[in-house]
Amino acid sequence: MNGISNNNKNGFTIEKYLAPLLLVFSTLLGVFFSSDSSAETIAIPQFTQGHLGKYTEYFRESDREITLTEAREHFNTVPLSKGSSHSISLGIDVAPVWMTFTVDNTTDMTEFYRLSLETPWIDYIDTWLIKDGEVINHFAGGDAYAFEKRPMQYRFYAFEHEYPPGQTQVIIRVETKGPMALPVYFSSVKAAISRDISSGYQFGALYGIMIALALYNLVLFVFIRQAEYGLYCLYLLGFVLNSLSYTGQLHTIITADYGVYFQDWLDIFLMITYSVTGLLFARTLLKTKEYAPKLDRLVLRIALYIPLGMLTGFVFDQLIFSAILSFLLNSSFVFLFIILGIKALQAKKPFAVLFILSSVTAALCIAISTLAVAGFLVPYNDYTFKAIEFGMAFEAILLASILARQFRVAQIDKRIAEKYARTDPLTELNNRRGFKELTQPIFEHIVANQREVTIVIIDIDNFKNVNDIYGHSMGDIVLKSVADAITDSCRQGDISARWGGEEFIVFLAETSEAQGLMQAEKIRRKIEAIKIDDIHTQLSLTASFGISGTVNGCFNQATLDAQSMDNMLRNADKALYIAKQNGKNQVKIFC
Ligand code: GH3
Ligand code: MG
Ligand code: MG
Repeated sequence: MNGISNNNKNGFTIEKYLAPLLLVFSTLLGVFFSSDSSAETIAIPQFTQGHLGKYTEYFRESDREITLTEAREHFNTVPLSKGSSHSISLGIDVAPVWMTFTVDNTTDMTEFYRLSLETPWIDYIDTWLIKDGEVINHFAGGDAYAFEKRPMQYRFYAFEHEYPPGQTQVIIRVETKGPMALPVYFSSVKAAISRDISSGYQFGALYGIMIALALYNLVLFVFIRQAEYGLYCLYLLGFVLNSLSYTGQLHTIITADYGVYFQDWLDIFLMITYSVTGLLFARTLLKTKEYAPKLDRLVLRIALYIPLGMLTGFVFDQLIFSAILSFLLNSSFVFLFIILGIKALQAKKPFAVLFILSSVTAALCIAISTLAVAGFLVPYNDYTFKAIEFGMAFEAILLASILARQFRVAQIDKRIAEKYARTDPLTELNNRRGFKELTQPIFEHIVANQREVTIVIIDIDNFKNVNDIYGHSMGDIVLKSVADAITDSCRQGDISARWGGEEFIVFLAETSEAQGLMQAEKIRRKIEAIKIDDIHTQLSLTASFGISGTVNGCFNQATLDAQSMDNMLRNADKALYIAKQNGKNQVKIFC
């Protein structure tokens, strides 16, 4: 189920380090609510399942290890603290704790119940069951024991026991170096199994989403080669590995017998994989370097120096030192995510709002789980306890949608770039490249089928004068007007382009030379009729035309030997030259 929350020895999530803070909360709450001196007994089978915090009394060993007899003595004589709503959280590196509660079987048959301590990193846990003053059973476990030596082969310390009618006192001793968070869960075996099944499905769904997204982004990374996809994949995998480890699942299945030392180090390094790749992903996605270079450098340094520091800690075997560094990295991680988002928003980056929404949701979910564990403001239940996982899944999906949208934007950019590579920006007609790409296949089809085609080259007359008299920008206006006139005179299927400076071309498919002549005349008149307010009336705007085309599906004699477009173009150019020679403002056919 929910090994997350304040109770991570190794996971070192933020909320875990809030354990001391939680302790203050729970103590305060304890002061308010612990007026009755002794805890209630747990009446079974009425009590089907739940955490036992409020039924539990506890104390800490002071200077030395005490025996069970001494502990029982202590429970009977000294006023004790009671747990908060669900769990007892005592902070990190604290002395071993003794807990007790009483189970009262109100029937006359035995009742089969499971007791579990849902913090996977506790080193030593001993439970004694005492009936009528006699110890009837003792279960020793914890992650210091080899997996098969534990009372149940389970991701937490757990055992199942048949409680005889009447009262059974349960005494638990817990010893660990990690955070002393002690959510003891007690449930009928039937309820425990269905809870296992449902949590199996929940983890399955969560990890399923994360792993599918990770693999998908890995594929994108391999094919697109953009760093953010790869980093996002690592970030997701880091999260899954980290969650597997702090919920006790990884060490149950894979590394069960590697011992506490290995697991501790593995956990803190898994934790930083996730935060380091998360930060690198965020700065890459948001392109922070472009508008917030200082923040970008800070993020890079944090992502580099903290892991290096932790490695140094590993070399000198300083777990606590490395753990604190990992905590620093992890707590700054959430805040840096939000700051990165805000900076991106200020720089008007397209995905900043979604990014902030996702990281703030994740941060809120962490807060919800933390407060629920503290028994403060938020009611504690399986849902609030798992809010972190929900937040992470939500964040993962939002971030994935950012990547998808980014992909779409890149696609549109590419299309725009392709369009511009084929278009003349001034006249918005095709440029040479666009013209050739469009006309080549049509031309080949026409030649193969002996259909008609005509090419018209148009050159503005005395255009230099326009520039010289009215300036270059007026020249541009004229060029645009001529281009518009050409477009207006074209039929559907005609392909026009700006061929060069003040030269244009029109490709007329299914048009014989004679028809092309009429079409060119139409364009010529249209150009002649252009009126531009600022241009003096004495400066007439005209153009000359050269034509080359087919007659009855045949190319004329001169082109017969080489039925290529280039040949036709050359011929049209020659015709144009003749039109210019003949006094301009006219259409000439190549012959
Ligand atoms: P002709 O009647 O013999 O064609 O004479 P012309 O002046 O039109 O031809 P010429 O080739 O001597 O001059 C063409 C001018 O077109 C020269 C060049 O500065 C101008 N030109 C070419 N491209 C552009 C452009 O994009 N904008 C402007 N404003 N002028 C251009
Ligand atoms: Mg010219
Ligand atoms: Mg000219």
